[in-house]
Amino acid sequence: MGANTFSYWERTAFIDKADVIIIGSGIVGLSAAMHLKTQQPTLKVLVLERGFLPTGASTKNAGFACFGTVSEQLAALKRSSEEEVSRLVNYKWRGLDRLRQNLGDTNIDYQQYGGYELFMDYETELADNCIDQIGYLNNLLKDAIGSSGIYSVANAKIADFGFEGVSRMIYNPFEGQIDTGKMMRALLNKVYNLGVLVLNGCGILKIENENGYINLITSQANFKTRKVILATNAFANQLFPDLKVIPGRGQVLVTKPIPGLKLKGTYHFDEGYYYFRNIDDRVLFGGGRNLDFKAEETWDFGQTETVKNKLITYLKAVILPGQNFEIDYWWSGIMGFGEAISPIVKQVEPNIFCAVRCNGMGVAMGSLVGEEVAELAL
Ligand SMILES: Cc1cc2nc3c(=O)[nH]c(=O)nc-3n(C[C@H](O)[C@H](O)[C@H](O)COP(=O)(O)OP(=O)(O)OC[C@H]3O[C@@H](n4cnc5c(N)ncnc54)[C@H](O)[C@@H]3O)c2cc1C
Repeated sequence: MGANTFSYWERTAFIDKADVIIIGSGIVGLSAAMHLKTQQPTLKVLVLERGFLPTGASTKNAGFACFGTVSEQLAALKRSSEEEVSRLVNYKWRGLDRLRQNLGDTNIDYQQYGGYELFMDYETELADNCIDQIGYLNNLLKDAIGSSGIYSVANAKIADFGFEGVSRMIYNPFEGQIDTGKMMRALLNKVYNLGVLVLNGCGILKIENENGYINLITSQANFKTRKVILATNAFANQLFPDLKVIPGRGQVLVTKPIPGLKLKGTYHFDEGYYYFRNIDDRVLFGGGRNLDFKAEETWDFGQTETVKNKLITYLKAVILPGQNFEIDYWWSGIMGFGEAISPIVKQVEPNIFCAVRCNGMGVAMGSLVGEEVAELAL
């Protein structure tokens, strides 16, 4: 669209003169915007979002306020040092605290019902190993969380939840859950109140860095600014192919309300590849990316019969055995993964900074990741 199409008012009030432009209005982009404005209230901050809504992971996740199950910590310890694993757990723990402080527990419907890791009948070796390592992990992570009693065996509760085929369970009282939709509305309200402008339906196609200015060529208008923050997560490579971010799709369902639902909390199994929780008398259930990693390594939203069938099978056989349920919603979201367990927060070009790859844990980490990149840009 040519520059002259816009009125004087449109250019002066909406398009021109942003000091910082943030690309992507997920948790990270909006948290960065919030931090920029709280640190420098006079700064003109503009967020450009490709979707009609934020269209990546932040409005499509499961809303677990968690920092990792026993099996996930043990898997991380195979790839990273003890120091790195406890540093990341502490980062997620502080990130959750920051999210709650920034937005308020009521506004995000934060509930700390605790979290459970389930082990199926056929996973005795994994279960035994995880249970054996509880003492070690509680000790390793006690400073990260500020408590030594993080994980404990909770087999006695399996029957209370009505699960079938589950032989062992580990409990974590520090795990909570949020209403993801309310959290994103609260975050948007917060940045609007701080004077940030968020424009939707505006995909950035190209970024040009010239003479101390950055030009953003977009689907709607061309923008010129001094600094840019890239918060496009799974889609980061579309603009900067060198960034090591691999997309990973997560498929999710929500049932219709189930009278007398026994579940209350957040639940994980198969080393975190499956997760479910209660929400409004319904069950939210997602995962199965590990059934076909290659197929789920995609920027395309959608469902596959393989994952859908597996989720339905687990619902019938394990989570809600003998109960009638109907599925009300199916959706998917795209996460950003990488070899390293930490997010990428760095300068990619002069005056262009990125904060991407929350490795499927952005509810926990996103507030701090946004803050960190805002500090870099300031
Ligand atoms: C199914 C699922 C379940 C999850 N469950 C949990 C959970 O329980 N707990 C947890 O901690 N984390 C969870 N996550 C991960 C968490 O949601 C993400 O880590 C987090 O939302 C990432 O936030 P972000 O702001 O980095 O990215 P996103 O929310 O993906 O935001 C990136 C934004 O950039 C926009 N964008 C991309 N390219 C462009 C462009 N060229 N121009 C303009 N805009 C662009 C996208 O439209 C998008 O809105 C889950 C994710 C999924 C998908």
